[in-house]
Amino acid sequence: MGMILEYIDYHLLPLALLLAAIIFSIGCLRLYLREKDQTRRMESSVAGERGFFRSFSVNGRDFFILIRKSDLRILYVSPNFEEMTGIDADMVRADIEVLRSMVSPKTARYVVEQLKNWNGEQELKLEVDYSIAGCEQTRQRHGIASLRQDEENACYLLIFCDNTEDYEVRSTMKEELEKAYQESQAKTDFLSKMSHEIRTPMNGILGMLSLARAHVKDPEQTDYYLNRAESLSQFLLTLINDILDMSRIESGKMELEAAPFDLFKVAEKLDSMFRNTTEAKNINWEIKMQDFDVSRVVGDELRLTQVIINFISNAVKFTPAGGTVSVTFRQMHKIEGNLHLMIRVRDTGKGIKADFISKIFRPFEQEDASTAHHYGGSGLGMAIADNIVKLMDGQIIVESEEGKGSEFVVYVSLPVAEGVQNVPDFQDNIRQEEDNEELQKAIEEFTLEGVHLLLAEDNDVNAEIAMEILEMEGATLERACDGLEAVRMFEESANREYDAILMDIQMPNMDGWEAAAKIRNLVREDADIPIFAMSANAFVEDKRHSIEIGMNGHISKPVDYDEVRRLVGEALLTRKAD
Ligand code: ADP
Repeated sequence: MGMILEYIDYHLLPLALLLAAIIFSIGCLRLYLREKDQTRRMESSVAGERGFFRSFSVNGRDFFILIRKSDLRILYVSPNFEEMTGIDADMVRADIEVLRSMVSPKTARYVVEQLKNWNGEQELKLEVDYSIAGCEQTRQRHGIASLRQDEENACYLLIFCDNTEDYEVRSTMKEELEKAYQESQAKTDFLSKMSHEIRTPMNGILGMLSLARAHVKDPEQTDYYLNRAESLSQFLLTLINDILDMSRIESGKMELEAAPFDLFKVAEKLDSMFRNTTEAKNINWEIKMQDFDVSRVVGDELRLTQVIINFISNAVKFTPAGGTVSVTFRQMHKIEGNLHLMIRVRDTGKGIKADFISKIFRPFEQEDASTAHHYGGSGLGMAIADNIVKLMDGQIIVESEEGKGSEFVVYVSLPVAEGVQNVPDFQDNIRQEEDNEELQKAIEEFTLEGVHLLLAEDNDVNAEIAMEILEMEGATLERACDGLEAVRMFEESANREYDAILMDIQMPNMDGWEAAAKIRNLVREDADIPIFAMSANAFVEDKRHSIEIGMNGHISKPVDYDEVRRLVGEALLTRKAD
């Protein structure tokens, strides 16, 4: 047995030793490989961090600073700090307070406040307004500073990210959103105000009509209620026209015309429009043209006239008997083919309270609740005038003293029209010429007795009303139910069988504009027959189109039959005179 053991010992010992050596080597190899792997991982992590830090530096929108907690000393400033802030990195290393010079005093206060309340646990994010030191563009920049605490290394890491571009885009979007919201709110307010304003007179009209019916056996009372209903309807009509104008302005659909017109003719028209009204109210009235060496300009005559009519109407409305309303047109300068014009409407009426003057151009604004009660009106006229003058790149100046009177001055610049300029002799006080006065008198006295009219109207109710009223005035009428029929009836009529045509515009088969154009193109002596549009299309553009088509005038619905009488009279009387 001893021999056997000795034999094994002798032969297996080297084997065991070899085995042990192999196992040891494998262990060493493993250890080496693990070490190597760790080293490689560490190397790649270091490389990653380097890249990470480099990305801070290379990316021009972020910089970072490492601050020691104990004494707030700056340990590290990323290399792009200087480029981003314009501040020398050494300066900030020397004194952290230098950072304060970057930000506005308001931001500095906000940062101090936030730092006071910071518990240091979560990351602190601060919105910062700052500017770049020494930069010529003093544009305010915007960024986000985030502050973290690094317990392990007992320091703070401040990462600053510039987001000026995003911030500005966001701010613009926010502003636009706010603007859109305000516009939509203004529209809602306008709509609810409008609904209220329309319902009020509507309520009055219906009420007056029920009272008239209830008192039908008492003609005097019935007449009284019907008169009230009529004047409320007139008010409602003006209101609807103003609202439509206002909404066209607000939706940007109002376009100005640029056509030559005569300023002296505008003044003459205004004179004849207001001379009688002011006389009836016992108000002194004057209209003057001053310093003109041209009379024809290019612009939108109707809209400019609308603005001045509005000022004059208010002046007449708010001026008591014995007062004065004066209108002055003055040529200020003529520069490079443009006429700088001043139109002033002055009154000695009740005047406007100082605090109301700044609100006068707001829609639906009146001085106080009693204004509508005493003087009527809706408070839209001034807003419309203001918008029209702005469309003309002009300006309105209002001056007023309570109890003394008001002055509205419009400044506009209009191109001088090409061609001959007939500046009338009179530069002061417009006078109607005598023959003009005679014609005006004849028109006022004109009746429709024996006048033969062709009425083109597709709506039975409107046709019935027009025929009855005009026949009561002595006219004889024939009705066409659309434009096509109107053209046919005119073609089949004898020469000068009809004295004038009243033409609705929106009709089936052929509208009034097309029918009028067809009649004008007929080869017959009376193709120049007076044609008047009688239409619910009541915009200035519609009126303009009727004239362009070759019609003699445009009467808006609801029809003022006195206007029909006057227009037909004027057309027939002037034709006879020719
Ligand atoms: P409306 O005349 O229909 O009320 P406007 O917009 O034309 O509406 O005028 C708004 C308000 O401005 C009037 O209600 C009135 O209070 C004041 N106002 C305008 N013009 C005059 C004026 N010439 N004199 C006194 N107040 C005026």
